[in-house]
Amino acid sequence: MPIKSLVRTIPNHPKPGIMFRDITTLLKDPVGFRITIQELVSRYLDWGIQKVVGIESRGFILAAPLAYAIGAGFVPIRKPGKLPADTIGHDYELEYGSDRVEIHTDAIAPSERVLLVDDLIATGGTALASVELIDQLGGQTVECAFVISLPDLGGVKLLQERGLDCHVLAE
Ligand code: IMP
Repeated sequence: MPIKSLVRTIPNHPKPGIMFRDITTLLKDPVGFRITIQELVSRYLDWGIQKVVGIESRGFILAAPLAYAIGAGFVPIRKPGKLPADTIGHDYELEYGSDRVEIHTDAIAPSERVLLVDDLIATGGTALASVELIDQLGGQTVECAFVISLPDLGGVKLLQERGLDCHVLAE
């Protein structure tokens, strides 16, 4: 069963003109959710990944079971003011405005092998800001994985131009 067929599109959310890809229909489907995680697990099982970094909030849903299954730690990247200990942050432009992401300063050790995970890549701004945080902590981003890419918005191209490898399950 293709993952793409279980993702629904909601027109005009969160504002007019936006075609919002909603993965809750994929997540609630027992087979769809399992296939999504298993595709990621089978790709990354032998990569020696030490930390799977998930981006708030839908990235958490994918990154946590993946980290568990491949024997890595899970690290959250969160919106401002949510993480309780010392953080670093990075501001970025988003499809729907501007935002900032933060990570705990002790979340990743220098030279650790890191996989970045989010549900969707659009312009790539969120992922790029997240990689910047991983870089600042000395982590090595081995790949960025997304369930959905919106190629018209150029996110994967942007990341690739910055020398980052991307893996996308569906376009
Ligand atoms: P970007 O920074 O423009 O690549 O936007 C990606 C971020 O915004 C991710 O964290 C996504 O979860 C969220 N996002 C943007 N567009 C959509 C969408 O259509 N569906 C779900 N999430 C989206």
